[in-house]
Amino acid sequence: ALTSLIASEKLAVAGRISASIAHEISNPLESVGNVLHLLRTGAGLSPEMQRLVDSAQGEIIRAGDIARSTLSLYRESAAPVEVSLVPLLQSIIDLQAPALVRNNIQIQTRMRATVAIRAYPGELRQVLINLIQNAAAAIGEDGKIFVRVQPRRGGYSITVADNGPGVQPADRTRLFSLFFTTKGEQGTGLGLWLAHSLIEKLGGRIKFRSRTAGEAAIRGTLFNIWLPLGTPPYVPLAPFSSVQAGRRQ
Ligand code: ADP
Repeated sequence: ALTSLIASEKLAVAGRISASIAHEISNPLESVGNVLHLLRTGAGLSPEMQRLVDSAQGEIIRAGDIARSTLSLYRESAAPVEVSLVPLLQSIIDLQAPALVRNNIQIQTRMRATVAIRAYPGELRQVLINLIQNAAAAIGEDGKIFVRVQPRRGGYSITVADNGPGVQPADRTRLFSLFFTTKGEQGTGLGLWLAHSLIEKLGGRIKFRSRTAGEAAIRGTLFNIWLPLGTPPYVPLAPFSSVQAGRRQ
């Protein structure tokens, strides 16, 4: 239909623009990252400054990750590599910790992965950061995020749960749709759509459950990712221009 044609054309343009922006910002990000690294390793910073520089560096790394995952989605990724889930998650949590502490959000973990899976580490990192940041954003202040990794059915299950307000029932079918956001100007609606695409590319699954205060005694949202062991089926992503509009509805 005409509407889906317009939508796929928009996607093609959005893809091209974001890939070129991602490319252009990679270099300045790297320079700033290097300066922060020098500051951080040099002597003479007060603990407070040290903390600020640490979190600035975390944000720069995050921006770089976003740029890279945008590029890798648009282009094709190289072959997957061995990724150990627990150290990956631990490093993400360490980087997010200062921001979480500031908002009085506790993070609890239960992580039991043993062998490495094969994945694209930058992309997986981006997906997991996104889930944790979405959880933190939903909570706002004062709450808990629970992260669990455990073996399940020939692979690993990763859970990120929060005790935030939950997703409104009317929004639940649209959560993984491209550009769906309830955050207005602050949101892009890219995060979960990207997560869905990247996890599928690894032959995995991502789903969620959510309850609002009106629906259950315990409100909150739980995202679960399942990733298979072994080499993911190499399914190259379609370039943006041929992604079917609305196929994730
Ligand atoms: P963005 O964060 O830019 O809005 P996402 O694709 O990451 O884009 O998320 C889409 C929407 O899903 C969010 O705007 C929010 O409404 C909802 N959402 C995602 N995670 C949660 C969560 N943990 N709790 C409640 N709502 C969530």
